[in-house]
Amino acid sequence: MGTVRIGAPVTSDGPAWPERDAPSVAKILQSTLTCPECGFASSETMPTDACQYYHECQACGLLLKPLEGDCCVFCSYGSVPCPPVQVPQPSCIDDDQARD
Ligand SMILES: [Zn+2]
Repeated sequence: MGTVRIGAPVTSDGPAWPERDAPSVAKILQSTLTCPECGFASSETMPTDACQYYHECQACGLLLKPLEGDCCVFCSYGSVPCPPVQVPQPSCIDDDQARD
């Protein structure tokens, strides 16, 4: 008795999680875009040298466009603001502006 049964098999050779070999990430280039229409979230890689203005939802086909005051769809619908916003830049300040 006393045999503890675990649902998942335990690997005995090494850690369960792959080691993260992130090369000193200064900016986050992965953002999760959430469609305001259907709620579908997709992980997208952001371009570092340009703002992506449009994004088509893969679920419902809605063309996402930045909200007023935002420079790209990542700022409006993404989990992470676009790279130009992540670095201090006076031209792209996201200051929780009152919309409507
Ligand atoms: Zn959608």
